[in-house]
Amino acid sequence: MILKVLLVVGIIALVYFIYKKSQSSAKNLKKEAKDRANDMVECATCGIYCELDDAILSANRYYCSKECLEKKR
Ligand SMILES: [Zn+2]
Repeated sequence: MILKVLLVVGIIALVYFIYKKSQSSAKNLKKEAKDRANDMVECATCGIYCELDDAILSANRYYCSKECLEKKR
């Protein structure tokens, strides 16, 4: 009976350990994604700085919006 309890406790501890490890690596991934999202680029038309994720890349220039991209053309 005690052996069974120890086995269950051991399995729970193992699952908890794996869960914690996977959670911390997921947190690191999220932090990396956030750092990348914070990269700011200057709009080639209006000069406003916007996040790289939101910027439109055209002919090696970044634009903050479709309006700026069309204005340049
Ligand atoms: Zn712009």
